[in-house]
Amino acid sequence: MVEAREASPGAVVRVHDRSRRFWGQALYSSKSQIALRLLTREERPFDRAFLAERIAAAASLRQQVVDCAQAYRLVSAEGDLLPSLIIDRYGPCFVIQTLSQGMDRLKAQVVEILQEAFSPHAILERNDMAVRELEGLPEQKGTLAGESISEVELEENGLRFIFDLMGGQKTGGFLDQRENRLAVRPYARGRALDCFTYAGGFALNMARQCDSVLGIDTSPEALNLARRNQQLNGLTNLQWQEANGFDFLKAADHEKQRYDTIVLDPPAFARQKSNLEAALRGYKELNLRALKILNPGGFLLTCSCSHHVSEADLLEVIAAAALDARRTVTVVERRTQSRDHPILLTVPETHYLKCLILRAL
Ligand code: SAH
Repeated sequence: MVEAREASPGAVVRVHDRSRRFWGQALYSSKSQIALRLLTREERPFDRAFLAERIAAAASLRQQVVDCAQAYRLVSAEGDLLPSLIIDRYGPCFVIQTLSQGMDRLKAQVVEILQEAFSPHAILERNDMAVRELEGLPEQKGTLAGESISEVELEENGLRFIFDLMGGQKTGGFLDQRENRLAVRPYARGRALDCFTYAGGFALNMARQCDSVLGIDTSPEALNLARRNQQLNGLTNLQWQEANGFDFLKAADHEKQRYDTIVLDPPAFARQKSNLEAALRGYKELNLRALKILNPGGFLLTCSCSHHVSEADLLEVIAAAALDARRTVTVVERRTQSRDHPILLTVPETHYLKCLILRAL
């Protein structure tokens, strides 16, 4: 056991078990409930070279699994054995998040390593995350190196998208849904609805296969981006509406509106375990309302990005929703986050995104 008294906040510490056997090295946090984040079981010092190796190993996986996209997650925290470090690559720009005391201390080294390995135009930080408070770290964002760039225009799956790195949600995009945005294409048809559209990701991916697509979001900034993305791709059959997804679906049912393809990608309802029950009620309600307005034979792509909601939980509430809606539903695909967000087998929370493609008969 490490003596917490002797460790400084954010230090890399050697961890021993009670019989003083070396157990590994970890990032120590003096504030968080997660006092130790395992870095390695090896004895060798966790220095800059070690950090650079881990980043290089992460980059090498991306070369194998990222197709047709210039924006992807280069380092995904625990999934790349770099707990609490996020590095998102947007073409020539990199956005980082250092979400623990320990990673925050390594920030300057991360910037140097990225400069050496990739010669980027810009490196930004989006450390404006509430979780940093649990570590006693301030929320901050800005340019760490290179030019001060906020918007970049990049290609994903043959479509052009604008990413707002400084002002957008997350680090500028929802990179974890990239493969699911592509996966929806074969099912998309007729009248389509993208209920939590952000910058129009799923909506644009469906547009070529559909007669019309409606994208809904509560954020006017997101819908602005969506409109610009639509224009960028010369697509004309999309419309956008600022609305609450729950209210929209309810009103659509009252008005007897019907859709052939629906995407539900809401924000996380259960950020904490204590919210699980309320979150499950939310997912049931949302999916129930969507199933009510889905035409027979229609497809529903439905997601949960709540760490504490398992795929089994989601399947169960959707089954209950299907019974209430008197719909017979089959599961066509069970999916998860894109492969540049690896799941660490021993940390179940890293399997956070669940995506089901369902067909309602
Ligand atoms: N599908 C998107 C990501 C969606 S993230 C993509 O692939 O890029 C969730 C989105 O839901 C955010 O854009 C957020 O602004 C929006 N949102 C949050 N609460 C909402 C609500 N109650 N109704 C509609 N949109 C909401």
